Amino acid sequence: MSLAERTRELDAADPLAPFIDRFDLPERVIYLDGNSLGALPRATMPAMERAVREEWGKGLIRSWNDAGWFDMAQRIGGKIAPLIGAAPSEVIACDSTSVNLFKLISAALDMRPGRKVVLSEPGNFPTDLYMVAGLERQGLAVRRLASREELAGTLDEDVALLMLTHVHYKTGALHDMRALTKAAHQAGALVLWDLSHSTGAVPVDLGGVNADFAVGCGYKYLCGGPGAPAFAYVAERHHADLAQPLTGWFGHAAPFDFFDDYEAAPGVEQLLCGTSPVLGLTALEVGVDLIAEIGVERLHAKSRALSGFFLKSLAESGIALDLVSPSDSLARGSQLSFRHEQAYPICQALIARGVIGDFRAPDILRLGFAPAYLRFADISEAARHLAEVLTGEEWRRDEFNRRAAVT
Ligand SMILES: *Cc1c(COP(=O)(O)O)cnc(C)c1O
Repeated sequence: MSLAERTRELDAADPLAPFIDRFDLPERVIYLDGNSLGALPRATMPAMERAVREEWGKGLIRSWNDAGWFDMAQRIGGKIAPLIGAAPSEVIACDSTSVNLFKLISAALDMRPGRKVVLSEPGNFPTDLYMVAGLERQGLAVRRLASREELAGTLDEDVALLMLTHVHYKTGALHDMRALTKAAHQAGALVLWDLSHSTGAVPVDLGGVNADFAVGCGYKYLCGGPGAPAFAYVAERHHADLAQPLTGWFGHAAPFDFFDDYEAAPGVEQLLCGTSPVLGLTALEVGVDLIAEIGVERLHAKSRALSGFFLKSLAESGIALDLVSPSDSLARGSQLSFRHEQAYPICQALIARGVIGDFRAPDILRLGFAPAYLRFADISEAARHLAEVLTGEEWRRDEFNRRAAVT
């Protein structure tokens, strides 16, 4: 069977095909960057229009009560919960992933007096490593980095927290959450998982692996829009001991009593700091509802099929590239990363052809396969474009060799 025939068969048999039209993607664009910024759901614009015109414009301040603004952060957290194996009361939508990291790293250190080490791996997402620096400067934390192979052996009685990203942003490699969480607990440490590249693409079972803390991103696979609020998870068993340092009024047990003294709200509500960003949450809720409707198991199955089909299509075109992602689709997230000296201009040449992936310094071409809105036809087309860019050395053109600020 030819590649074209196989592509048609795969699309015809795809149970998620009906969902593609629920997204508003431009014509003639093959979007392989949903792992950086998820696509726009069609329902987002009307929801935003309603929130702005009706709830804000007409309802004004009354909408905090009447339009459900006040408990939006908890409500959306509750909808994210089943995607990550958490109970609704364990998740809240708020702030950015970076800020949530700060709150939870700090809370973890507070729960392990006498221990200061935050253990992570070199090459973890920069903000995860940077957020430890502020706590180090205050003398509250000591950063320790160990390679994947050495992590478990590096857990000792100084480690307060093991902090890792489940799906590595550059390579797509998955950590064994269960084994690492168990190893950390055996060493008396807590664990914080960054689920930014997992949520909405790869099943996660925070409860099942006995995780302590987690954070994740709202604008990647959850399609919440640029700079969407993130989420934070704290296992129920830690709620009583939870103390985070950004003690703003929205995290107060009774914000509208206007007391002089801070008293933390009992559960994950304590993680709120300032007033919830209602418009950002409005867009996030649409994305979360849609991804939850499709269901993470089906998304994962399609994600694996898409990336596998890309590799097959590329191989059939006679192109051999250096794959840095695990070749086993069960060992990687929803992306494929290739190492190439000319990864930057190759990526630019692809974008000029309408195939949008991204470049991660110094030499990685990263292609994301957001399963909710890609067709198998997009995949074989993208592979054809990549093969043509490489065989024709199209990437040599000057215009593809100038660096932009955001890659
Ligand atoms: C995208 C991403 C973030 C994003 O953090 P922001 O605060 O939203 O900028 C954090 N961690 C990881 C692993 C990510 O992939």
